[in-house]
Amino acid sequence: MKSTMQSPPLLISDLLRYGTTVHAKSTVTTWTPDGGRTTTYGEIGQQAAQLAHALRKLGIDGDQRVATFMWNNAEHLVTYLAVPSMGAVLHALNIRLFPEQLIYTARHGGSEIAIVDNTLAEPFAKLVEHLPGIRHVIVNGEVSDEVREALGAPEHVEQVHDFADLIAGEPTEFEWPRDLDENDASSMCYTSGTTGNPKGVAYSHRSNYTHATGCALTLQLTPADQTLVVVPLFHANAWGFPYVAMVSGNSLVMPDRFLQPEPLAQMIEQLGVTSGSGVPTIWNGLLQHLDANGGDMSTCRMLMVGGSAAPPSLMKAFQERYDIEIIHGWGMTETSPVASLAFAPPQAEVGSEEYWRYRASQGRIIAGVEARLIGPDGEEQPRDGEAVGEVEVRGPWITASYYSNGSEPQGELDDMAAKFDDGWLRTGDVGAMTDDGYIILTDRSKDVIKSGGEWISSVDLENQIMSHPAIAEASVVGVPDDKWGERPLATVVVKEGEQVTMEELRDFLADKIAKWQIPERWAVIDEVPKTSVGKFDKKVLRQRYADGDLE
Ligand code: ADP
Repeated sequence: MKSTMQSPPLLISDLLRYGTTVHAKSTVTTWTPDGGRTTTYGEIGQQAAQLAHALRKLGIDGDQRVATFMWNNAEHLVTYLAVPSMGAVLHALNIRLFPEQLIYTARHGGSEIAIVDNTLAEPFAKLVEHLPGIRHVIVNGEVSDEVREALGAPEHVEQVHDFADLIAGEPTEFEWPRDLDENDASSMCYTSGTTGNPKGVAYSHRSNYTHATGCALTLQLTPADQTLVVVPLFHANAWGFPYVAMVSGNSLVMPDRFLQPEPLAQMIEQLGVTSGSGVPTIWNGLLQHLDANGGDMSTCRMLMVGGSAAPPSLMKAFQERYDIEIIHGWGMTETSPVASLAFAPPQAEVGSEEYWRYRASQGRIIAGVEARLIGPDGEEQPRDGEAVGEVEVRGPWITASYYSNGSEPQGELDDMAAKFDDGWLRTGDVGAMTDDGYIILTDRSKDVIKSGGEWISSVDLENQIMSHPAIAEASVVGVPDDKWGERPLATVVVKEGEQVTMEELRDFLADKIAKWQIPERWAVIDEVPKTSVGKFDKKVLRQRYADGDLE
């Protein structure tokens, strides 16, 4: 029997329409050194319409790609909403990738227009000559004549525009097309490519729509929230925050390029931030700043963390010292990205061991996502919190393949296909699951240390080392070892003004970690190398210590 229900396509323009009318009074504050500039969702909606009219005039009348090269700011949000709503495809370029990877992703995605922040115009001018598809460059903010000339120098660039001038005078309403297929691409993102070329994921209107409603329900943000979005709009679909905001109506604080602990603390204090999102290194930096300099964090109740495992010591420190819940989210570019969120169930008493087990986990699968564990023998593992396997997921906001533009060699296509298992995405993350749907990751399959035929979790070691009061950061990688095949090597960053010996650290671990897992190789470093999105770059560490010896 067929249902009697209406079936309009689920489109980004519906989120845009809803958010910018129903929540018209919610605000976006873009941080500036003098305290920020604020605009309303109503105005954001009008500017999205104006941008869509302007882009139509520049020839965007189908599913052409429009790239951004921008920080988190109001204009980036306008673009996030306008481009997909008009039927085109947004490609937010990761400004922190190495130039070769940036050029690769920009060419592979195939954008025709690039919208660029003025503060990033200089580096973009160096890239644009390598991007023959780009016909127009739109600059957000003022630039010198020299930079403008450099942007327009390549022959393929027809014109360089100013964002504000381009949209000024355009109508503040746009008839967003209703005849789009909800399964058409709305935007795309590339993984940061730790091995080989970055892989592209093309999100659909439907995947973004369902992801936004699923996340909004679970995160429970409201129009009373001020949400500090530190996670870049160019990383992993901005964790869905631009679209979640349209559903929940939470006001946004956009840090632009001011991502250091001091301005972040100022934003929280001065703008009354209640919630936020960022990778562990961001919140770790903030914590150290607050511990050293103090600060009023009383408005803030919840900060979402993800991208890599957040040490429980970081979560506890925020909760105990600042009354802020650090909520773990887990996912990847391929999963839109949020697949689980670690709110503890109500029966776990706050502060109890059980409570922290839930909070330190990667979280409970969100309704809509299905997960299973596959053991090394290819068999599905029980969800008993103990049995370990690779996590596989499927659902409406999980990618079913990678984007191919027909240029990839067969080897790369085979690699891409190998990431899927009978309709499930193989995440490459290893861990256990509980019967009430929580995922507990022990490692990424490529980071697990295989010592004498046993597995050592690099994340467990890092978490324990980082719970030592003198340690700011710790990263553990496997290095070759004649006897054991591989052994853990711990690199640590000691907090300013503190001193600790490696013997003391080994003693500290003695009652926390099985003896055979405690590293005998240690290195004190100034900073753990980070990837383009602020994760510990274990590839660099592995290369640096590839012969198993310390420098
Ligand atoms: P990349 O693969 O380029 O790093 P992603 O941001 O898509 O880009 O990374 C996804 C990976 O990040 C996941 O597969 C997982 O290994 C790791 N990750 C994300 N969130 C968490 C988390 N909360 N805890 C542990 N690992 C995480």
